[in-house]
Amino acid sequence: MLYVTHVNVDLDAIAHNVEQARKLSPRAKVLVAVKADGYGHGAVAVSRHLAKLGLADWFGVATTPEGIELREAGITQPILKLSPCLTDDELDAAIAFEITPTVIDAASIAAVSAAVGRAGGKGFAVHMAVDTGMRRIGCSPADAAGLARTIGADPALKLQGLFTHFPISDQPAGDEFTAGQIVTLEGVATQIQQDRAAAGLEPVELVHASNSAAVLGHPTDFGMVRPGIMAYGYYPDAQTPRPVELRPALSWKSQISYCKPVSAGETVGYGRTWTAPVDSWVATVPVGYGDGFSRLNSNRGRMLVGGVSYPIVGRVCMDQTMLDLGPVVAGQPAPAEVGDEVVIIGQQGSESIDADELAALMGTISYEVTCLINKRVVRYYS
Ligand code: PLP
Repeated sequence: MLYVTHVNVDLDAIAHNVEQARKLSPRAKVLVAVKADGYGHGAVAVSRHLAKLGLADWFGVATTPEGIELREAGITQPILKLSPCLTDDELDAAIAFEITPTVIDAASIAAVSAAVGRAGGKGFAVHMAVDTGMRRIGCSPADAAGLARTIGADPALKLQGLFTHFPISDQPAGDEFTAGQIVTLEGVATQIQQDRAAAGLEPVELVHASNSAAVLGHPTDFGMVRPGIMAYGYYPDAQTPRPVELRPALSWKSQISYCKPVSAGETVGYGRTWTAPVDSWVATVPVGYGDGFSRLNSNRGRMLVGGVSYPIVGRVCMDQTMLDLGPVVAGQPAPAEVGDEVVIIGQQGSESIDADELAALMGTISYEVTCLINKRVVRYYS
């Protein structure tokens, strides 16, 4: 194997997970969030697989180059850029590659309209973000109808979608807030649909709000849902309801590159932060923060070798991490040897480590753990 430290992505698990989202939202279209390179899983491979199986109606990206990458890989499904384009160059590219822009205010509407004009087009679909509580992007609910009228009156544009985002749909404590956001979006959508009917315009085709947490815990009647993390097999939070079983799709593996005895009292790694309490076998694994294995795992966390869990000792280096394989026993070989498989995320024997476990150690969320695994770690697909 050329790439000893690698990720395996189980595309069937992703298909299974998206099927669960479809099952929970049977009447809705499904936009799968494949931003940040499919949460580190590989946006092109994930999108191609879901497109081939007819499981994704839309894909969602965060940047225009992410959308272009999908188009260049042959993805023909509609692609929504989930945040506004900031420059004319970006808008021109989005329009050339048929990436649906998000608008949030009069200026962003005017900018898309001008770009569509430059491209000699008309009736270009846009989605308008309405801020019902996230306070990130989107117009205020009070401004939405007026902006929708501006779009409706512009032959360059078509208001195809209206959406919002939930900040706390993963927490039972946020149920009331999320329910309020749903009511607000429903009100905005009703007003806009009435205005459009009165103006002889087609209704807005897609109203959408639900991230994974809302798909799992806050069913809505909107026409589209936008799962991300659940597609990759993780629940957004330990508190999020689990009405379906998800399958983590990503495993991250390496091999032992070196194994040697370290005498009691000797230290391991930069800063000499771990001292062997007894003569110990210490294995080196060629993975480090240069791969996206956070330095926050230094002297915490574990990896699996031969189905056994071993602690990480010393500081995680850029390219290598050390494991304590336990005491040296006279006359006995080391419990593992060079070339043995190491599991960083995934299953080995009856033991497993998932991104939630790493996230808890790092004080973050599974999303960040998988997004951090960078391009040096080659992805294989099965
Ligand atoms: N929709 C928008 C606008 C997002 O920003 C995101 C991700 O952050 C998603 C949907 C998917 O969210 P999740 O991965 O929590 O399902």
